[in-house]
Amino acid sequence: MSLVPQERIYLSPPHMSGDEIVKINEAFASNWIAPLGPHVEAFERETAELTGIRAAAALSSGTAALHLAAELLGVGAGDLVLCSSFTFAASVAPFFHKGAECAFVDSEPESWNMSPQALERALAETSAQGRPPKAVILVDLYGQSCDMDPLLELCRHYRVPVVEDSAEAMGSLYKGRRSGSFGTFGVFSYNGNKIVTTSGGGMLLSDDAEAIERARFLATQARDPAPWYQHTVLGWNYRLSNVLAAIGRGQMLHLDERVAARRRIFGRYAETLGTIEGVRFMPEPSWSRSNRWLTALTLEEPLRVPPLAVLEHLASWNIEGRPLWKPMHLQPVFEDARYWPHEEGRDVCAELFSRGLCLPSGSGMTEAQQDRVIAAVLEALRTVPARC
Ligand SMILES: *Cc1c(COP(=O)(O)O)cnc(C)c1O
Repeated sequence: MSLVPQERIYLSPPHMSGDEIVKINEAFASNWIAPLGPHVEAFERETAELTGIRAAAALSSGTAALHLAAELLGVGAGDLVLCSSFTFAASVAPFFHKGAECAFVDSEPESWNMSPQALERALAETSAQGRPPKAVILVDLYGQSCDMDPLLELCRHYRVPVVEDSAEAMGSLYKGRRSGSFGTFGVFSYNGNKIVTTSGGGMLLSDDAEAIERARFLATQARDPAPWYQHTVLGWNYRLSNVLAAIGRGQMLHLDERVAARRRIFGRYAETLGTIEGVRFMPEPSWSRSNRWLTALTLEEPLRVPPLAVLEHLASWNIEGRPLWKPMHLQPVFEDARYWPHEEGRDVCAELFSRGLCLPSGSGMTEAQQDRVIAAVLEALRTVPARC
């Protein structure tokens, strides 16, 4: 191996096309350097059109979008919300901060997303206790949709509104329909590591155009229509800047290419590493077309290599990988939270967490860079000592 330090390969770095800077220059030329302006409106309209949803509000982050969803659903102190355990903390943090009891539902092995059979038990049990959830938060993890039909059917039956956290799933499909369009509210994130980025930002989507109008109002300090600053309620400063919306619009022009690139990267990993006994990639059920935001895999028998040791080995090659999301029900902050596993004695997302990792998956990664990642993984599987 060469002693010259090689350039770092990141997990999921931003990938600019050149169209972003053109649109930023438009924003500068028009002097709309503000949390509103023509790019914000156009970004909202284009995102709503793309997802087939009536209305969208561009916000400063995906977390802000989740917060406003919690607000608009009237989630408050003492309410119960159910969320996929296998996710990033931001899916649930805004609900937690509203004082809700957060309880968690396991994944199914087929999609790694919320298990319909576990949700069914959770809804039956909490309803029988006279305390059905105020909202169910479904997460499309690593860019893969949940199995929406059975999950939405259950939520309809128990009359519980759904928030679809599609922060990682822009450009993904469920039975041909766009991720982000399934809940009462849908959420995208444009954080720097997501498939479409504005450096930081988010979008709240809904067919309820009035709710989205209300979201914009709350996100702009809740100013009443009066000549002076008047407030019947208090809001937040959550709007996306016109400059950042310009980046987002430039990025969106290339969404399909970015999805194709990430799927191609996944395909090459699957071809080269998938033949090793014990390497198992995140499955893609027939109803799903994942954007493959991150290539995620688990190391199973007969491989006995701890994922963290593989990640350390990648780091020694100057390659950034990551463990899978640590489930919420295993987080210290939620140690007392209620949890419904996929089936009795079978905690699917805890198993995935203990065995899994994510490989660099940026849409701008070259084949040569990916070859280096593959070589580093192969070397790790050959040389890292097995756990006992
Ligand atoms: C990134 C992410 C968020 C938060 O989005 P931000 O824009 O970073 O606030 C929420 N949920 C999931 C699943 C995410 O991956």
